Amino acid sequence: MGLRAARGLWSTVQGTRAPAGRAVPREEVDATPEEHPASPQRLRLEVRGAVQGVGFRPFVFRLAGELALPGWVLNDARGVFIEVEGPRRTLERFHERIVSERPPRALVQSVEAAWLPPAGFTAFEIRHSDEAGVKTALVLPDLATCPDCLAEVLDPAERRHGYAFTNCTNCGPRFTILRGLPYDRPNTTMRGFALCVDCRREYQEPRDRRFHAQPIACPACGPALALWDAGGAALSGRETAIPAAASALAEGRIVAVKGLGGFHLVCDARDGAAVARLRQRKLRLGKPLALMVRDLDQARELCEVSDLAARQLASVEAPILLLPRRATAPVAAEVAPGNPYLGVMLPATPLHHLLLRACGFPVVATSGNLSDEPICTDEYRALNRLGAIADLFLVHNRAIERHVDDSVAWIAAGRMRLLRRARGFAPLPVTVKRELPVILAVGAHLKNTVALSVGRQVFLSQHIGDLETEEALSAFERVIADFQRLYDVRPVAIAHDLHPDYLSTRWALAATGTVDGGGTAGGDPAATARGVAPRLIGVQHHHAHLVSCLAENKVEGRALGVTWDGTGYGTDGTVWGGEFLLGDAAGFERMAHLRPFPLPGGEAAVREPRRAALGLLWEAHGEEALVGPGRGAAGLFDGAELKVIGRMLDRGLNCPVTTSMGRLFDAVAALMGLHPSVTFEGEAAMALEWLADPAERGAYPVDLLPGRARAGPRPPVVLDWGPLLEAVLEDVRCGVARGIISARFHNGLVRAAVAVAGSVGEERVALSGGCFQNRLLTERLAAALERAGHTVLLHALVPPNDGGVSLGQIVVAAAQLGT
Ligand SMILES: [Zn+2]
Ligand SMILES: [Zn+2]
Ligand SMILES: [Zn+2]
Repeated sequence: MGLRAARGLWSTVQGTRAPAGRAVPREEVDATPEEHPASPQRLRLEVRGAVQGVGFRPFVFRLAGELALPGWVLNDARGVFIEVEGPRRTLERFHERIVSERPPRALVQSVEAAWLPPAGFTAFEIRHSDEAGVKTALVLPDLATCPDCLAEVLDPAERRHGYAFTNCTNCGPRFTILRGLPYDRPNTTMRGFALCVDCRREYQEPRDRRFHAQPIACPACGPALALWDAGGAALSGRETAIPAAASALAEGRIVAVKGLGGFHLVCDARDGAAVARLRQRKLRLGKPLALMVRDLDQARELCEVSDLAARQLASVEAPILLLPRRATAPVAAEVAPGNPYLGVMLPATPLHHLLLRACGFPVVATSGNLSDEPICTDEYRALNRLGAIADLFLVHNRAIERHVDDSVAWIAAGRMRLLRRARGFAPLPVTVKRELPVILAVGAHLKNTVALSVGRQVFLSQHIGDLETEEALSAFERVIADFQRLYDVRPVAIAHDLHPDYLSTRWALAATGTVDGGGTAGGDPAATARGVAPRLIGVQHHHAHLVSCLAENKVEGRALGVTWDGTGYGTDGTVWGGEFLLGDAAGFERMAHLRPFPLPGGEAAVREPRRAALGLLWEAHGEEALVGPGRGAAGLFDGAELKVIGRMLDRGLNCPVTTSMGRLFDAVAALMGLHPSVTFEGEAAMALEWLADPAERGAYPVDLLPGRARAGPRPPVVLDWGPLLEAVLEDVRCGVARGIISARFHNGLVRAAVAVAGSVGEERVALSGGCFQNRLLTERLAAALERAGHTVLLHALVPPNDGGVSLGQIVVAAAQLGT
């Protein structure tokens, strides 16, 4: 590869910026571009990206040695700086090879180069990290164990044989042990472990894989394991903890395992009684549980694993991947009842590799928390919170600085797409097209994440969870404080959802001094008093979904957003969720939406899809919905219930009006007799999706009605589900197979959405919102839109659900600030 090509690829710019604290006289820069190629010069490179903690400095050291170029390399809070001098041709080769031979885990965003007169270096040195300057160096996520380290751990002849905390510059903990930037051992939770002589030798040897590996450790000097009972009494230590935990698992016990970013609750996945006990104790009744398997071979016994899936499972991110389960999978039915998929991951640390090898069987490995609270990270707190769930605790003495769950992904429309962005991905930023002011976005309510913009980077937090509990709210506050401290910035604005009752919204109001939040949610009273409180910017929920998808795809122009989800606060105060928004970061126009219907009981309807069904029937048939024979509702409620809910509907009491697509799915599922009530949002819609007969091409009719003229020139088109509802009822009455009904329902929505997109006439269409966790809907709609000539934008590394809302909020807020 020529230098020119290398520059193009890596967006190299001729820069004049000096490392922090080192001013460069202007005339020094680019002083000698015309000189003879053999005459000595000095080359300065500034490498930005995730380049710390991946062996970048040792790589530079080795390369400079090989090319006999004296100079230095340095980490600072912004990246890696290099100066080398020698013949120009050799320097150009050095520059080329820095790009083309970079360490496997390095993520280079840019390389700025500057030519300077020689300084007379005599040797090459690795200089001490410089803590000054703006902190924009990317923090690397935790990386799954590399093959070299795994081989060492499994080799009885190696000194790290069986050692659960083995790592090197290509793998191991990063984000979860980092206490501050730059990434050096004293700034990690490994600071208390003094290196032994052997580890120090490896750490200092430039040819070693562990040269400057910050979390380096071995059995002689590093963290150690222990197995505790539920009272915290040690049962076995170091050597015997893993085999003892494995035999407890084989006996059907539940073990809480302290991993990289928090605790897992682990049990034998083949043991139905153990899994059922875990579900009961954790109060997680319906949601599928994730599995950890020994290796790819074991994954293949459980699921169909495509080549793409195998690569993702074995990647450094090692996400939980939703894969089609085999009928013969040796896994208890209780793991994922009725679910054609299993969520499977490979071990990401030597501890998990050793445990899975000691067991030999696949295990359930679900987040160590109660219900939907954030994952536990500290062993003493875990004893307290998980004591009633786990029988044993497999713990260690390396502190977890911040919680990070496992990421969850699926493969749809030809590539891996994240449903939960956490380990392996957080806190890598999403790079946007232009510089943004520092903005904090506090996200939505469920599946909460927060985001912080610094320059062109939007740092999207790890998954925090549903802001329903005290625990979740304090995790939310911790992540916000953590991000601001890590990047050393104060936001000029805070972006939030329009929903006044979201805890994230309330926190934002309190933080900007707009209202007194009380309790722990208060902002910075001093800043408020000084009049420098950040500006508060409310962002409509589905607008944030649309812009999140645009930002992830680096699109600045407008698009038609098909934003379908369960719930989002509309600009008219009603509950939106089946929306077509045309716009960009600067604003949007609501082009179309689902015909509104009442939701008797409001939130209660999320838990009881039959209520959504009754709302739909009421909207379509009025009072007849309550009495008409064969109308569908009669079988869903008993007489007394119908009377009460009928009165609510009649009077409009606690019956918020919605255009929610999620609730339409729920309603149709309930009318088909699936899940009249659910244990988690989306359960009924998932069951409906799984039923669909892929061969069925029929589609239920959805009418597109011109909106009633209101204020404004173009009232939104209404997608009338009335004809669709009648067709569903008719097919249910006639005993048409549920797989056919489900497919016709999906196909009808696809056809309607394509018709709306055609009438709007916008070429670009973005699909975002929780409904696009439905594979059938996503793949069929994307394909149909493409056939109709549209360019379709989908999410990939940002979740389509509310976990992606904070990114959209940032970009919308930046547009409002005029940037
Ligand atoms: Zn390694
Ligand atoms: Zn050691
Ligand atoms: Zn949403």
